[in-house]
Amino acid sequence: MLSESVTKLIDEFAKLPGIGKKSAERLAYHVLRVHQSEALALAEAIRSVKENVHYCRTCYNLTEQEECEICRDPKRDRTQLCVVEQPRDLIALEQPGTYHGLYHVLLGRIAPLDGIGPEQLTIEALVERVKGGEFREVIMATNPTLEGDGTALYISNLLAGTPPVITRLARGITSGSVLEFANKEILADALEGRQKF
Ligand SMILES: [Zn+2]
Repeated sequence: MLSESVTKLIDEFAKLPGIGKKSAERLAYHVLRVHQSEALALAEAIRSVKENVHYCRTCYNLTEQEECEICRDPKRDRTQLCVVEQPRDLIALEQPGTYHGLYHVLLGRIAPLDGIGPEQLTIEALVERVKGGEFREVIMATNPTLEGDGTALYISNLLAGTPPVITRLARGITSGSVLEFANKEILADALEGRQKF
């Protein structure tokens, strides 16, 4: 019923995370309806991201330079290294503005069921970085999931015997949340990681 180009656009939108067939159709009709310059601005933004943005050669954060802003910032504490799964985790941890150390982005987590092994992540580069750096602390900030914990454990084993102290993020009830509504994993972590009052 639809032209080949429209069908193709719907198919491409439908591949995006969180976009079902109906939303994909809505987006495609939106593109058809808007002015040509607006639609081409979207195409151009996608092209620009793919052509200009790549991984920082040191920490694998996203950047348009060889090294990302954090790695280039002389004010960052070079004795602390925080290990995260994805660039979006780094952005989340930067929000409070309380951490001033460096990062290492793994670009995923070890997930045997999805066929993702340690060699597909940036773990080798991390180990080299830690061995060659002046870090005093390596903070494991992988997600508190089975796979995130497994990845953190794997890395801590690899780093055992190197000088930096290895820590992990404290866990527990989000401040402002109510115990009753916390899920059981969060509660279990909160109990296990309890601190002296
Ligand atoms: Zn960097």
